[in-house]
Amino acid sequence: MSHRPRPADRRQLLRLACACAMAGWLPRWAFAQRRWSFDPFSLGVASGAPAPESVVLWTRLIAPGWLDSLGGEPVPVRWEVAHDEAFTRLVRHGEALASAELAHSVHVEVDGLEPDRWYFYRFISGDAVSATGRTRTLPAPGALAQRLRLAYASCQRWEHGHYGAYRHMREEGLDFVAFLGDYIYEYPNATAAVRNFPTLGLVHTLGEYRQRHALHRSDPALQAMHAACPWLVTWDDHEVQNDYAGTQAGDTRPLGLNGAADFLARRNAAYQAFYEHMPLRPSAFVRALSGVQVRLHTRYRFGQLADLILLDNRQFRDPQVCGHPSRPAGLVDPDTCAALDDGGRTLLGTAQEQWLDAAFAAATPGWTVVGQQTLFGRRDARIGPGARVWNDGWDGYAAARSRVTRSLEQHRVANPVFLGGDVHENWVGHVKADYIRPDSATLGVEFCGTSITSRASGAAQVPKRLAENPHYIFADGSRRGYGVVEFSPAGLTTTLRVVTDATRIDTPIETQARFVVRAGRREVHRL
Ligand code: FE
Ligand code: CA
Repeated sequence: MSHRPRPADRRQLLRLACACAMAGWLPRWAFAQRRWSFDPFSLGVASGAPAPESVVLWTRLIAPGWLDSLGGEPVPVRWEVAHDEAFTRLVRHGEALASAELAHSVHVEVDGLEPDRWYFYRFISGDAVSATGRTRTLPAPGALAQRLRLAYASCQRWEHGHYGAYRHMREEGLDFVAFLGDYIYEYPNATAAVRNFPTLGLVHTLGEYRQRHALHRSDPALQAMHAACPWLVTWDDHEVQNDYAGTQAGDTRPLGLNGAADFLARRNAAYQAFYEHMPLRPSAFVRALSGVQVRLHTRYRFGQLADLILLDNRQFRDPQVCGHPSRPAGLVDPDTCAALDDGGRTLLGTAQEQWLDAAFAAATPGWTVVGQQTLFGRRDARIGPGARVWNDGWDGYAAARSRVTRSLEQHRVANPVFLGGDVHENWVGHVKADYIRPDSATLGVEFCGTSITSRASGAAQVPKRLAENPHYIFADGSRRGYGVVEFSPAGLTTTLRVVTDATRIDTPIETQARFVVRAGRREVHRL
């Protein structure tokens, strides 16, 4: 290196020294431009939205301490994609402009890549170089892919623990992470906090949502997992507000300010901050007259092996029914809540429902994986006669769920696999044509995952609830972690990975249970 950095650049020099040791060289222009007195890439890098010939690369430049935005100036950012970690065999490169309007986030759509291939990528701004990420493309649509390995994860409440789970997830040899909701939590749980931060409050404004995302993303284990492979992301409620439904506010208990009046402004802010922090395509972010929209429902075709369908059951849903006025979500009695079966109510919205029906109609003969945010199957929470169901999940929209299962039947979808989150418990079972009738057709299998860190409140009840709902074969609420599914043309194996102690960054991990589904059989068996 020819330039002589100021003392304040010592940390940067170290980074560059590492980068140079790896790269052997850096282009002259990297030093000719802006000299940073801090690392603007302290939130790391990410990739997502893969296609056979393209992928999205993400970063966000941020001030030191990662709570403050950078200020008003747009910042040019160079990006590089290479075959090798030393970036000697560059494949593509270009420049993006990180603007203050989108919190200096960068969403680069790299095209001209080869299908079914891994790449390295990084960002450079002046004398600052980001961490190096690894990403991959999808196989060509007709390719006879033999193996797909993905993790499903959800609910990573920052103050409830450490992201030890992600440290172990890095060792799983994954193609993708499917993140199924509750990436952030919008209100604090200070009494249960394992770790604390100065701005742990209820977030409302764009600036506050940005801070909350940056807080979660400041975690090194989470950053490292984002850098390890592409993430396919959807959201649940806490990215905006507990239990919200479409344009209607949800749980108004935590503070008076989050009532219905300011809810749309709040949702707009939350949606924008989510987009700013996720590896999504720029076309997914739409400022419509009615407000900000983020398109998350997407289909990724992994050759002939699998379709990965992501759903959004928050943005377009009708309000919950039969709940309490100050808290619309709750356990309700299906015998006295006729609206649960109202065929006019929707969880996905009409357009997404039709889109899903078309996706099922075009399903591959392989696996049809549906990643969505909540438990899909019916879960009666009342032990013994009578029933209570949670009206905020699919149980609260039973008629809408029946439309989905009818669509599966009608299009003879060969191997449906539902993945979910939200409940902070592991549930494994069968998708039924009619959940009230155990002898009705079994249409697929379901794996609903536990949380990365967020605590579960009803773990002791889980074994009894499992017995009450025979379409499920396994349930546990005591452990945090994630699931790993490996698909092959002949079958899938799901491994539930659980940490010993989610409050420790150095927690060990273990396998809680393993399951197998043979192709064409729609039956899940515990190994
Ligand atoms: Fe959650
Ligand atoms: Ca019951």
